[in-house]
Amino acid sequence: MQALVLNTDGDAPRLERRDIPTPSVGARDALVRVAACGVCYHDVAVVDGTLRRGVKRDVVLGHEVSGVVADVGEQVTTVQPGDRVVAALTAFCGKCARCAAGQEYRCLRGRGFGHALDGGFAQFVSLPETSVVPLPDTMDIVQAALLACPIGVALNAMEDAAALRPGETALVVGAGGGLGAHLAQAAAALGARVLAVTTSPHKIDMLEALDGVDVILADGELDFSEIAMALTDDEGVDVALNPVGSALFGSCIASLAQFGRMVVLGEIAGRAARFNLAELLFRDATVVGATGASPRHIRKAVDMAASGSVQPIISQQFSFDAASDAIEQMRAGATFGRVALIPPSA
Ligand SMILES: [Zn+2]
Ligand SMILES: [Zn+2]
Repeated sequence: MQALVLNTDGDAPRLERRDIPTPSVGARDALVRVAACGVCYHDVAVVDGTLRRGVKRDVVLGHEVSGVVADVGEQVTTVQPGDRVVAALTAFCGKCARCAAGQEYRCLRGRGFGHALDGGFAQFVSLPETSVVPLPDTMDIVQAALLACPIGVALNAMEDAAALRPGETALVVGAGGGLGAHLAQAAAALGARVLAVTTSPHKIDMLEALDGVDVILADGELDFSEIAMALTDDEGVDVALNPVGSALFGSCIASLAQFGRMVVLGEIAGRAARFNLAELLFRDATVVGATGASPRHIRKAVDMAASGSVQPIISQQFSFDAASDAIEQMRAGATFGRVALIPPSA
């Protein structure tokens, strides 16, 4: 099969298109013909060499996978060839304390697709039966690639990490990005009033077109926290969703209301966050990290997309031969929402 393999032998890692054996199918595995695979900041960090820990040699990257089941092992009972599915982000044991608590994405024996295990930048990927979530027949198979990450990840952040309640105000920074655009939509779908912060004037129209989302353009003149305060009668926001990390950490805290919660979902700059702890204290505020999505989050994402309350946003599709352009688009932050790789069909 055709796959993009990460070659780390040279000075800098690079994606190479190679013909490699189609993965074997274990007794409890489903072989999925990949329809689309989203390109995530995780993939960019591995290609850039800034993320190396736990990455397998000659890994096939990509964890945002949708496709059609092509073959199943003899003990598989929940899916069959022809079923349309989205992949979970990890393989998990289903038995440890984390799995029992519904935190399968942090399974004590878990391994990530496109990281410790081969992922979806390939024509086929082999997945444990427990790591595939079925899709309704009516769902667009390419758009479905985003239902685990970023949409399931967004639901985990809002429901489990932030305990966002209907009627609360949620601030989303980096709102034009792949995670941000879906955080903004999902927060609105969960009944929050959403303030979406972007630094890109060309993304304003696309954000304003999302239901229930008000846009703040952070153009450098006024800190967005001052605008957030003005838009909330100086109360501040209940939840700040921060996929950017350290660069906007202080402004997110300054935007929070009393008992506000900030969820950190990413760290782009790789730097330490500087802020005055008194800002946290006098608000009785909480800062919490959130990564990943468990099957229950992904199933909810499937239901929300099926009902139309969230819409996966893939603004550009790339062939394998243009994979480096897809990575470059992500690195530049130029596109609205996600870009996806489409494997050759034969
Ligand atoms: Zn992702
Ligand atoms: Zn486990």
